[in-house]
Amino acid sequence: MNEKYLVINAGSSSLKFSLYEMPEEKEIVNGYVERIGNEGSCYSLKYNGNKIQKEKLIMSHVEAVQIMLQELLQNNFISDLSDIKGVGHRVLHGAEKYSDSVIIDDSVLNDIVSLTELGPLHHPGQIDGIKAMQECLPGVPQVAVYDTAFHQTMPIENYLYATPYEWYEKDGVRKYGFHGTSHKYITETMKEHYGTDNVNLIICHLGSGASMCCVKNGKSIDTTMGFTPLAGLIMGTRSGDIDPSIIPYIMKKQNKTINEVIDDLNKKSGLLGIASKNDFRDICAMANNGNTNAQLAFTKFKKSVVKQIADYYFQLNGKVDAIIFTAGIGENTPSIREAIVNEISNPMNIKLNKESNNNIASFKEQKSGKISTNESSTDVLVIPTNEELMIALDTYRLSKENNKDNNKTKVYK
Ligand code: AMP
Repeated sequence: MNEKYLVINAGSSSLKFSLYEMPEEKEIVNGYVERIGNEGSCYSLKYNGNKIQKEKLIMSHVEAVQIMLQELLQNNFISDLSDIKGVGHRVLHGAEKYSDSVIIDDSVLNDIVSLTELGPLHHPGQIDGIKAMQECLPGVPQVAVYDTAFHQTMPIENYLYATPYEWYEKDGVRKYGFHGTSHKYITETMKEHYGTDNVNLIICHLGSGASMCCVKNGKSIDTTMGFTPLAGLIMGTRSGDIDPSIIPYIMKKQNKTINEVIDDLNKKSGLLGIASKNDFRDICAMANNGNTNAQLAFTKFKKSVVKQIADYYFQLNGKVDAIIFTAGIGENTPSIREAIVNEISNPMNIKLNKESNNNIASFKEQKSGKISTNESSTDVLVIPTNEELMIALDTYRLSKENNKDNNKTKVYK
């Protein structure tokens, strides 16, 4: 009999959910809650070519989870909550302790809570989601799938900061990297696409949170996010890399505490800081209407990606199989893809196929494909990420193992 597994993927301003039938890897329904905590919040469910779309004020991730379960019941995707045999949660930060997914028990949940200081935008919503699911589905295995796991293959020269070595040894200060589930999915997809495990890739995961990954021979060797997801590219509300000396300077100038400044860097910076909007659709619309701050935000976002492509191109010694655009902005915004490809066009001998680029988006018929010309030295591709499937596979594997262990315990009692 097919078993149903629920996947919860909470982003900084969005929550995706999917119900899978396993082991068929068949997604029965998926949904997307958008603009959580903002005006215009809404959600949608998609199944068999059908779509349910509703507008509703959704103020928290907990509310989003509750709405999701109600919709699954009301629309008969499940007849009872007990149909769900396992729940996989995307969890942002596993630090060095978690290099693989794990069944959530009290000690794992405590670790997720204590790691909130490393993932202040994500962990609170994810913890609320886990607790709500534990309450609604008591006894059902809950699995944490960490965004840091895929990057554990980075060499020390890429993950170590040039800070006192004891900061790393005693306190674990190092680059961890995030979006690992997404970067892993893209890498696995590319391995299949090129028919080899030894793929060299530059992956651009551009969403509300944005990160890039340098993949050499199928393994992550570098990524833009760091000790926390605040580092690297400019993001929706996060600053990305800045000079750390700005922090004490602003504390003094604006009479702010360290937490207030870190909060500003996480929640009031990035696109929002420059152009007063964090949604890339708003940035594009404003820029097209001549808003100079939105144009500046667009340009700075582009430049932060281009700089990193250059870095990874050299780390891969110029041997790049593909540059991949993925996640909300990467999958849906031809204008930013065009701007980025135009910047790297000459040095990397890549030419944009404009027509193909303009035709690919998740809301169009064509959702993935090549946007570089055949003569280009490197493929440039748009590939929708599928963190949900990655999470479903781990949830299925660990839930099965967990049930076997429980059964064994019963036999020997
Ligand atoms: P994610 O964090 O991957 O869900 O991505 C969210 C980001 O993707 C937001 O900045 C959205 O504005 C952007 N996005 C989603 N859909 C579109 C679209 N149709 N056009 C442009 N940007 C989009």
